[in-house]
Amino acid sequence: MHAIQKVKPGPGLVVGTSEKPELGPHDVLLEVKAATVCGTDLHIYYWDEWASKTIKDFPLIVGHEVAGEVVAVGENVTTVNIGDVVSAESHVVDNTCFQCRINQRHVCQNTRILGVTRSGVFAEYVAIPEQNAWKNDPSLPLPLMAAQEPLGNAVHTVLPEHSPPDISGMTVLVTGCGPIGLMSIAVASELGARKIIASETSPKRLAKAKDMGADVAVNPLEEDLVEVVMSETEGVGADVFLEMSGADVALLQGLETVRPGGRVSLLGLHGGKSVPIDIDYVIFKGLRIHAIIGRRMFETWQLVKGLMAKNRFRERLQKIVTHQLPMRDIDLAMKMLKEGEALKLALLPEF
Ligand code: NAD
Ligand code: ZN
Repeated sequence: MHAIQKVKPGPGLVVGTSEKPELGPHDVLLEVKAATVCGTDLHIYYWDEWASKTIKDFPLIVGHEVAGEVVAVGENVTTVNIGDVVSAESHVVDNTCFQCRINQRHVCQNTRILGVTRSGVFAEYVAIPEQNAWKNDPSLPLPLMAAQEPLGNAVHTVLPEHSPPDISGMTVLVTGCGPIGLMSIAVASELGARKIIASETSPKRLAKAKDMGADVAVNPLEEDLVEVVMSETEGVGADVFLEMSGADVALLQGLETVRPGGRVSLLGLHGGKSVPIDIDYVIFKGLRIHAIIGRRMFETWQLVKGLMAKNRFRERLQKIVTHQLPMRDIDLAMKMLKEGEALKLALLPEF
């Protein structure tokens, strides 16, 4: 089959061929219909320090956000049928470690990630465990099906504790309006947040924040974010702070402007650097801080499904998927993402 692979350490990806995946008894084989590109794929493409530390086995088929049709099922598969159009939970867990057994699969000790530490989805076919297949409403556009994986990150960030969902009526500060930050604005808006303040340094992305339902859009290079949040919240501070940028300054500004007793979700990654946080300040404010990794399996996916059933929400998400390209144009795709021309980009299995 055709596939996009990292064949050796270093920058770049090769569009070539690979063996069609073998199917274990609990696996389903997907014919890939669309895949979306994540920031992680960009790190792998340009081969940063994280990628060189993480990826050890070559060749590796990359990509982890996918929509595919089930074309074969392993002998023990019972819940997925040939013909189902599914998305994939990209984290493959073992179901047996300490965390899995206490229903914390999102922090499984033996997590393997599609396109990072196991074979990925930028290919004609991919095999995934039955458990990782998420059946879709077939009316959902294929790129949106694929983008439900990062949408799950956004939902998990907005609602770190599944029940009861506590975002309605809240004032929310979102720092960073990349694809996942924008998704989190759409999620918070759909779930009835009272006021959403978005912060983003790129004017183009900041404009999208308004399309997603942000009430106030701030470029922190031009305005004092702390002052804006304080005046927009009548001096109280934001109830909820979602850090979606991975910028130190944004994290510090958010901690300063979230109200005492408020809650914080940290999704943005800081490239392995330490961030100087005054922990006493955080303690005296009585903040509830959630570190967000992946999606809760599978409560987050249930929330994603409910949101995707709503037209306004779907339409908003469509505005985040800005481009579609054939997989053979992977170099162009990476360039468009790196230069900020594309926000979320869908790849079609054309080689
Ligand atoms: P992205 O890099 O496209 O978005 C980050 C945005 O933050 C960019 O638009 C950038 O312009 C903006 N930004 C930079 N400095 C800023 C500042 N000072 N104030 C406000 N905005 C600023 O990334 P994404 O794909 O949307 O992902 C968001 C973050 O989440 C990234 O750091 C990514 O690595 C991380 N991530 C974490 C998980 C997880 O499970 N924890 C999963 C996926 C992604
Ligand atoms: Zn486990």
